[in-house]
Amino acid sequence: RVKTKWATHKKQKLPSLLALEHFDRFYAPMYDKLWPSIRLALLSQQKYGALINNYSNNVDSAVLDLIDTGADNFVQIAQSHKLSEASDIVDKIGLKKDVSIPEILESLQKEKEKPPLVQHDDGHHVETELDSNLYEYMPVETVYTEDELLELKETEENIFRPQDFSVDLIEDTSLSLPIQLKVHTFSRGNVTMFQPPKGDSHRLLDYYLLDAASTLPVLALGLQPRDKVLDLCAAPGGKALTILQTGLTDKLTCNDNSHSRLGRLKTVLNWYIPAADKITILKKDGTKLGHIMTEMFDKVLVDVPCLTDRHMLQTDDNNIFSSGRKRERLSLGDTQKQLLCSAILACKPGGSVVYSTCTLSPNQNDGVIQSTLEWLWENTKIDVSVCNLKPLADACSKTFRFYEHCRYGQLVIPHIRANFGPLYFAKLMRIN
Ligand code: SAM
Repeated sequence: RVKTKWATHKKQKLPSLLALEHFDRFYAPMYDKLWPSIRLALLSQQKYGALINNYSNNVDSAVLDLIDTGADNFVQIAQSHKLSEASDIVDKIGLKKDVSIPEILESLQKEKEKPPLVQHDDGHHVETELDSNLYEYMPVETVYTEDELLELKETEENIFRPQDFSVDLIEDTSLSLPIQLKVHTFSRGNVTMFQPPKGDSHRLLDYYLLDAASTLPVLALGLQPRDKVLDLCAAPGGKALTILQTGLTDKLTCNDNSHSRLGRLKTVLNWYIPAADKITILKKDGTKLGHIMTEMFDKVLVDVPCLTDRHMLQTDDNNIFSSGRKRERLSLGDTQKQLLCSAILACKPGGSVVYSTCTLSPNQNDGVIQSTLEWLWENTKIDVSVCNLKPLADACSKTFRFYEHCRYGQLVIPHIRANFGPLYFAKLMRIN
């Protein structure tokens, strides 16, 4: 008789399934009625945006072609939203038409502080209602041991309670939408795919396809002419390219610690930018860079490694939920905090830092902001404020669906009709 070695033959679960089980366990209670629709969107084809390459000599025809196919520039839509909000206020509160911008802002602020007269019932709420009824799903269950559950809760998914948050947000008066930046997307519910980009006479491509939500952290930077900018975790380069397309930065430093990913960044820059003279590329450990390049930059973007939720559901290759990467996964929170601290050190006093992820994990989003601020206050003399990004989210709400309960940042949540994200971004202003 042959004894069956069943234990060694037991089929291992695929990492993508482990990821789904993890999200069902930790995100379902957090996102509650929204979770079924977020889950459905995460498992479906994501939506892209076309970032126009202003360096190509085909810009005008590329823009016209995109508009012809029904893809409009969401940055322009957001600009008109902001303008119409301001002019509504001017009309509503009876200001003279020739008042200055600071006066409008001040009146706007006063208006916002008044209690609302009517309850808004916009498209967003209607969708939220649909969520609970339409998308039924059967959650999958991983059985964790008590110890594993404790470890996970401590390191990854300890949901924050209101009393964990101790910082008030400040209004961000530097927020403006760069007119040169053009990111075309199809409207809600339109799932047309973009044609591949075309080369011009200099072989520069006319647009770059990316998750349109990933341009929001760049908008949040509030770039001003001649800003010196650091992109601390830059590869493969989607956000660096977005920064360059604003035409506002004087000098961009792109850093990443991965040789192969930096190779992809260089390829992207070669396909889109004619001369890379205002770009410096570094291969350094980003957690240490702020100690070397202290207070050198006006704006710092820190787009950290994270759970990359959507990606982990779609591939088993090199998946962070595979058993070989468990240690790395559990240390993500520490790495994120160290990267954010380093970004703050690299930022000049008076400058600002935008932190971003592409995960729904509250620990890796608001949680990292909270614990980094606590660490800074306890261990350094550096003071930072958290900026209110709600006005930016409001301006972009025709294109993206935002979660309404983040404490510090803004989070784009995937929805089947606007299948961008997840994308979290928060902005810190360095005071001293
Ligand atoms: N910003 C990029 C873009 O828009 O294309 C995506 C960045 S990706 C989310 C995170 C990046 O962080 C990866 O390229 C990874 O190699 C890099 N990274 C991870 N740990 C790092 C570290 N300690 N220092 C610098 N880069 C790091």
